[in-house]
Amino acid sequence: MGTVTLDNLGKKFDNGRIVAVDDVSLDVADGEFVTVVGPSGCGKSTTLRMLAGLEQPTSGRITIDGEDVTDVHARKRDVAMVFQNYALYPHKTVRQNMAFGLRMSTDLSKDERDQRVRETAEMMGIEELLDDRPNELSGGQKQRVALGRAIVREPDVFLFDEPLSNLDAKLRTTMRTEIQRLQNDLGTTSIYVTHDQEEAMTMGDRIVILKDGELQQVGRPKEVYRTP
Ligand code: ADP
Ligand code: ADP
Repeated sequence: MGTVTLDNLGKKFDNGRIVAVDDVSLDVADGEFVTVVGPSGCGKSTTLRMLAGLEQPTSGRITIDGEDVTDVHARKRDVAMVFQNYALYPHKTVRQNMAFGLRMSTDLSKDERDQRVRETAEMMGIEELLDDRPNELSGGQKQRVALGRAIVREPDVFLFDEPLSNLDAKLRTTMRTEIQRLQNDLGTTSIYVTHDQEEAMTMGDRIVILKDGELQQVGRPKEVYRTP
């Protein structure tokens, strides 16, 4: 299960001089794929980082699956984030990169972890890369590994921070389809941040449009107003 609620969520920086996120409220249903779109600086990343527990909200409340996780130190927060720059450990192999998060977040035995990593790698088509290190991989391969590392943990919620921005146009299209397929198969609640309006429209069950830190519109792709 992975319902997510934001209640009047706010984040200020620099003693209140910068309002990054302004009173955002949103309910995300279990299994829903929500895209968050808006121009650079509108607060997308900060919103996601608060959900991930990487940034303390200034005001408001976050719950995941009914648990209050507003505090950055909240213990239960079963989310896995995929970053734009992949954020792989450079000195670890693909296998170790994928197993690391599993070791931190579950109490599986070593054999169980190894098996989960192998199965996920097969699902992602990266089983040939398991003994490689990140610097031996192409951008597309790195992003596949980053996705695999999130998926292997079987979290309640995926958080995507512009995961395709560093890929070329062709690969971006391929990966879009792939992420949608995976999300469909796994049924994991997903919150996907992008500055690309078309990406947001194609991928999301619902789209959240942010502007200057405020929630401007939210709706299904057909409902939300298209800005040029
Ligand atoms: P987006 O992801 O939509 O580009 P961000 O959430 O990164 O937007 O940023 C929202 C606003 O908050 C911007 O004005 C940005 O400059 C500001 N901001 C983000 N992080 C910090 C920080 N650590 N310190 C000060 N200002 C920040
Ligand atoms: P651990 O401390 O659990 O062994 P590591 O970070 O050393 O964690 O490795 C993560 C996983 O990857 C382990 O389950 C380990 O068995 C596996 N692993 C690491 N290197 C290799 C390798 N060269 N060949 C096969 N499996 C490996």
